[in-house]
Amino acid sequence: MVCGARADLIVTLGLNEGIWPAPPRFHSHLDAHARAALHRSGLDLPTVQTHVHHERDLYWWTQHAASYCISLYPQVVNGSPRVVSDLLVDAAIRPASPIEAPTPDPTTSAPSPSEFGESPFDLLDLQLSPTQMTRFGQCSFRWFAQYGLNLKDLEEPSSTLAPHVRGRLYHHTLDFVAKGLKDHPEASLDSLLTEGFAAAETHENLMRLPNWIWQRAEHLQHLLDLVQAPEFLPEGHVVHVSEQDFTVDWFGLTVKGTLDRLDQTADGFVVTDYKTGSDKPKGACGSDGQLSLDVQLPIYLSAASHLTTTQVTRGRYLSMTKRERRTLADANPDLAGLEALAASFVRSIETGHFPVAPDERQEACQYCSYGPLCRYSFDGGEEHDE
Ligand code: SF4
Repeated sequence: MVCGARADLIVTLGLNEGIWPAPPRFHSHLDAHARAALHRSGLDLPTVQTHVHHERDLYWWTQHAASYCISLYPQVVNGSPRVVSDLLVDAAIRPASPIEAPTPDPTTSAPSPSEFGESPFDLLDLQLSPTQMTRFGQCSFRWFAQYGLNLKDLEEPSSTLAPHVRGRLYHHTLDFVAKGLKDHPEASLDSLLTEGFAAAETHENLMRLPNWIWQRAEHLQHLLDLVQAPEFLPEGHVVHVSEQDFTVDWFGLTVKGTLDRLDQTADGFVVTDYKTGSDKPKGACGSDGQLSLDVQLPIYLSAASHLTTTQVTRGRYLSMTKRERRTLADANPDLAGLEALAASFVRSIETGHFPVAPDERQEACQYCSYGPLCRYSFDGGEEHDE
């Protein structure tokens, strides 16, 4: 903060005991007692006390330098409870007491009435997706940060293919192959793949990447291995639709998304969701406290049922990169868990309450960039394509 400056909004973070004020850094070898004694005898020497007073005054002036001020102090840091800094007790402007969450009634999935005033969200304005619902189920604060506040990682220029661009490249290529097979079942897989890949890399402007000419061979080989594998289009499967946008009513919520592929078989329809990872994607928190509640495939099944006007119950996650085991998981919806998740989402939207609540093992935190914001874990991981 520059003294004398004005601002529309000032946000002060980390006003906790042990964090603020930060320990003083004196550039001499005098200990605290010697400093205090010299200060008392009239020497203009900074001491621990003057440092604390200076920090408190700075906070006070900061609060007067803006029309709006937000002061935040986390209640939990790295999993340990923290108290508000003692210094705030004497401050002219003190942060409000934390709002305690209402205890949800476990006997009903209906949302409890708002106890937090007016919520900043309206369900009708939200564009929900399967990924959003999974994120919310992993930690509601993560959803709030990413979709409510629209906070995003800065995109760094990269010389290699970013995970999300790789996902789009693979999906566009496979879409080209699937649509080609739908129209011409006898078409050459190699030709379709080569043509689809060239179109997708042009669309993503990948020639700008240094050494792309060498990188592309590896990606092309991954996809060639995939389309030649028996799991890609198993015997008896006929492509019905590929990369099909949908809007579906899911436990009263309007969810939009894209079906990677829907096949027709003699036993009914089968949903395929492509994954660039080599493991089943992490779900939302289930009743066991782990990320075990699959959200995406059940939503795709609902969308497929809506599209075909039949009950679609079969679906799978198909790895685009793991040769040894292509099918990562089959659909097995936990309807009670999903209904509870949808109800919990509605409750959060209506109350505006999004607590920091990851799964018991904090696996969600490993793939979340909001650790420095939620202060639950400072070791927040990288976002990656799931
Ligand atoms: S780091 Fe963990 S606790 Fe914090 S927002 Fe992300 S998932 Fe939630």
